Amino acid sequence: MTGRQKKRLLALTGSLAMVICAGMALGTAYAQTMEQEQQEEAAVQSSVLPDVLEEETLEDTEEKLSDDTQEEEHLPEDWNLILVNRTHPIPEDYQVELKNIGSGHQIDARAYDDFRAMIQAAKREGVYIYVTSSYRDLDKQTDLYNKKVESYVMQGYSYESAKRQAGQVVAVPGTSEHHLGLALDIVSSEYRKLDEKQEETKGFQWLSEHSWEYGFILRYPNGETEITGIIYEPWHFRYVGLEAAKEITEAGITLEEYVGAKPVSEGLAALEEQERQKKTAVQTPSLERQEGYLKEDTEENLYE
Ligand SMILES: [Zn+2]
Repeated sequence: MTGRQKKRLLALTGSLAMVICAGMALGTAYAQTMEQEQQEEAAVQSSVLPDVLEEETLEDTEEKLSDDTQEEEHLPEDWNLILVNRTHPIPEDYQVELKNIGSGHQIDARAYDDFRAMIQAAKREGVYIYVTSSYRDLDKQTDLYNKKVESYVMQGYSYESAKRQAGQVVAVPGTSEHHLGLALDIVSSEYRKLDEKQEETKGFQWLSEHSWEYGFILRYPNGETEITGIIYEPWHFRYVGLEAAKEITEAGITLEEYVGAKPVSEGLAALEEQERQKKTAVQTPSLERQEGYLKEDTEENLYE
């Protein structure tokens, strides 16, 4: 190694040390600021946060923003408005008191009376509707989902795309509204298949007109898959309570829009982007590792 090279190396080591020192100083200063902020925050805990703080959050890194997505939505906590979809899994500790509605089906006890009233009103008008699916526990959903994935794999799809396809038809376990006991698949007496032809039945036509009067909405309307994450299902009805059902029906919107949640397609795209970023982060050596490599190299060279 020439003298000039050695000098360069020494200079490099020196500047590295300076950068590290500066970093440490900054870190200490930052920690102090953080501590101050925490103290101030504690002091104003119960009062309203100033607008400035919210603006600062907006200016934060994109990564932080995507982490905060869930909090930013401020979803309502009402039991009847709880949102469960592909980007909003059911809370792990979710508990529900169920009531039997016949033929082995169960519904959230709080929606029972409105459900009974709806079935009876339909019957009075000569419309006979039947529940084919109601509350499902996690095991049942896992079973349904796995079978669907398998059927796509058999059709020649890759496992990944089979999972994606299956997720649009059968909810991924933990993301089905049926876990809530607030969702019902309802068919008409004259046609009992769960497909788009269900919309031509007397039962569906009656429900489209009247279900809101009993607190139920058509949960996955035609053309709203981007928002709901689920294909058009003219049989899946969801209890949201009388007031919300009226407002949602009048406005012609989805539950996602009503509670102010992001469209499922957007949430899924964000999740995929996060996954991609994680993978890239693993592939690119971190600055620390680069520094370590330089240091080792330098020390070795000094022994020359
Ligand atoms: Zn359903």
